[in-house]
Amino acid sequence: MPSYDPDNIFAKILRGEFPAYKVYEDDRTLAFLDIMPQAPGHTLVVPKTAARNVLDVEPDDLAYLIKVTQKIAKAAMTVFAADGLNVFQFNEPAAGQSVFHLHFHVIPRKQGIALRPPASFKEDPAVLADQAAKLAAALKG
Ligand code: 5GP
Repeated sequence: MPSYDPDNIFAKILRGEFPAYKVYEDDRTLAFLDIMPQAPGHTLVVPKTAARNVLDVEPDDLAYLIKVTQKIAKAAMTVFAADGLNVFQFNEPAAGQSVFHLHFHVIPRKQGIALRPPASFKEDPAVLADQAAKLAAALKG
């Protein structure tokens, strides 16, 4: 497996070099909206440690990341009035990974509405800003 590349886009977001619609942050994790959502509210949850994917992350960091992912998932169910929710995670290109900093996808679902294909739709920035504010407020409360 290739080594971790600190120039990946999520590392740049973590360093504040690239903008993101942040919804939650603590000392070990950051969650922000996917700018090409497969459904409204599609959120990415990343560790602050340099991990390419589930194959090289420290087990304690992975355990903490899934705890935070559950927190985001519960808030997203409420904020997006979801009927269900997917948590996805991909490892290496053969399995669909395209950004090489570990992340969980949290995707709220509505009954009978199919997911958009990955990277097929770029959301309006104003919509993302509004959704991020609502999700961040729910996560604070
Ligand atoms: P992967 O296929 O690696 O599991 O997912 C990468 C995700 O990152 C995709 O859902 C894609 O839409 C998202 N993505 C790619 N570039 C950016 C970006 O610059 N900002 C944000 N917020 N998401 C991105």
